[in-house]
Amino acid sequence: MSSRLELLRETLARRPLLGDGATGTQLQLLGLAPGACGELWCLDQPDRVQQVHRHYLAAGADLLTTNSFGGTSFVLAGHGAGARVREINIAAAHLARATAGDHAWVLGDIGPFGGMLEPLGDAQPDEVAAAFREQAAALLEGGADALLVETMSDPAEAALAVQAAKAVGAGFVIATYSFQQSAGGYRTMMGNTVAECVAAVLAAGADAVGANCGTELSLADYEKLTAELVAAAGATPVIVQPNAGSPKLVGGQIHYATSPAGFAAATARFLAAGARLVGGCCGSTAEHIAAMAALVKR
Ligand SMILES: [Zn+2]
Repeated sequence: MSSRLELLRETLARRPLLGDGATGTQLQLLGLAPGACGELWCLDQPDRVQQVHRHYLAAGADLLTTNSFGGTSFVLAGHGAGARVREINIAAAHLARATAGDHAWVLGDIGPFGGMLEPLGDAQPDEVAAAFREQAAALLEGGADALLVETMSDPAEAALAVQAAKAVGAGFVIATYSFQQSAGGYRTMMGNTVAECVAAVLAAGADAVGANCGTELSLADYEKLTAELVAAAGATPVIVQPNAGSPKLVGGQIHYATSPAGFAAATARFLAAGARLVGGCCGSTAEHIAAMAALVKR
């Protein structure tokens, strides 16, 4: 185990860790067109990607997330870049690593592959697993300290990604799902309960588990969800990275209304409910992370 990874585990045992905020919505503010391939900016606009990392580091984030959410061959192929997985993910990790220095850890970001596994869809588990291994290996090669499997809806896919990350040597793997409200409580889009989701990735070897994004969920929902996650996760640390409120369309623009102070106040409740890693997803900014830092990094 590298000493940086050891220090990550030690620090997490001592105090909660602060993640960063949104990447996608921040890159859009810097000019990324909606629907364009943000991961290609690791190669084409490295300064802008690093600017996002720099702002989060300055805000006090302990963890910088690489700009590689859609970095599997499946997603990149949709942008004509399916053969550039290694190049893009190595660059994504380099950019975050160069910004982080000794001040933060780098989480190599892995999002969904964008399809559905058999039998619901036509994707073969072996092919999806290979794609996750390819991405995970490149993120580690580029200098990621740990890997973040995020915004998952299918526990089977999340488990494949965690196993893939472990198989290529990741020493610390975080897995988070996007939940929504349903008649039976919080569930993924695929209908899975919190307990099912947590069990699947713990069996696959995840080192931390939790929730992120979830467009329908309020911060009050996230507080209840945190308690459910903590109950399901046992001794495994829980991470929560909500959106800055539910998105609303204001003047044709998607707007996230939660203020930095409101977000930080909610963070205090997540920590009281047992969360050990906190950060933000869509709509959260460096100002949100800075407001959280005072609470988390005591
Ligand atoms: Zn999000």
